[in-house]
Amino acid sequence: MSIEALVKEFAEVAANPKAQLKKYKDQGKKCIGVMPYFAPEELVAAAGMVPFGMWGSNDKTISQAKEYCATFYCTIAQLDLEMLLDGTLDLLDGVITPTICDTLRPMSQNIRVAMSEKLPCIFLAHPQNRKPAFGLKFTVDQYTHIRKELEKISGAPVTDEAISEAIKVYNKSRAARREFVKLANAHCDVITPIKRSAVLKAAWFMPKTEYTELLTALNAELSALPVCDWKGAKVVTSGIICDNPKLLQIFEDYNIAIAADDVAHESRAFRVDAPESGDPMMALAQQFAEQDFDVLLYDEQSSSNRRGEFVANLVKESGAKGLVLFMQQFCDPEEMEYPSLKKALDDAGIPHIRLGVDQQMRDFGQARTAIQAFADVISL
Ligand code: SF4
Repeated sequence: MSIEALVKEFAEVAANPKAQLKKYKDQGKKCIGVMPYFAPEELVAAAGMVPFGMWGSNDKTISQAKEYCATFYCTIAQLDLEMLLDGTLDLLDGVITPTICDTLRPMSQNIRVAMSEKLPCIFLAHPQNRKPAFGLKFTVDQYTHIRKELEKISGAPVTDEAISEAIKVYNKSRAARREFVKLANAHCDVITPIKRSAVLKAAWFMPKTEYTELLTALNAELSALPVCDWKGAKVVTSGIICDNPKLLQIFEDYNIAIAADDVAHESRAFRVDAPESGDPMMALAQQFAEQDFDVLLYDEQSSSNRRGEFVANLVKESGAKGLVLFMQQFCDPEEMEYPSLKKALDDAGIPHIRLGVDQQMRDFGQARTAIQAFADVISL
């Protein structure tokens, strides 16, 4: 298949998750909604079901969810509930609700109340201290609870062998996505910001065997191309999510390529693999424990600003000339971390801009002006 045809397949999946959900249900599969962040999707796959990412929507307006949520909840969380209430996600067989931030914690209970008898809601609390032995045990206990709840939905036991197999499938998928991100940088004339986003977004709505097969084919095609001599600007993107094609179109309009990302919906989700030997439940706990340099996770060494330096190095190593931070409105973790990130970028002499965004934005006039000016600055 040509690059164009492969990217088109990913773009169709990314643009229409509802159709994708229906497709799997028509095949007789059960599907489990997985809200952000760090849910062990491997357990869903091991249970023979399809994990289905829930990252809000760029096409909906919050209406029914307002009855359950304070107005200062971010739009991602509110739109997840909106889609559960308005029927968009009616075909789901259950939903996993992680609780890693101050919005997701109450939201997990709002969803439980709103869905009541309609949909099993599986609560997931990650430990703050994820690395010590007691943190690993806590994670294993939580994941064991998820495993049991998934068994109730699927009606069959989830075996250790199936989890070990799922870990291998996911590691392969994560490796393919890391490879794609590098190839997208080397071939940013072909993989534009909109296409890059679509390829990575599609991963949330496809079983990983199917997704990885398609992505491996795309990576092979890209590897065969000569590295492009990009004359425009290159940036690193940072934030929770930046998948709105209208926003990314502005990048394309001003010849800005994405060299790498520090985005929760993209690279932060596939940086770390799980060990492929030993107890598979502990392997999943270790995979979570080894996550690092993330706004959402406790860092024992936060006073040394390791995360800020990590992001600054990402900019330098990827060949980008600056960073664009997409700051979700009302996202406390991102807002609180910003001064540290700014300091690290300033210390490293890396220019950046911060754009306030949410998923109900329809007018990107201000963002256009800011991005155009930023492109001029970093191109000098
Ligand atoms: S965008 Fe921020 S506030 Fe909303 S769910 Fe994510 S981390 Fe929590």
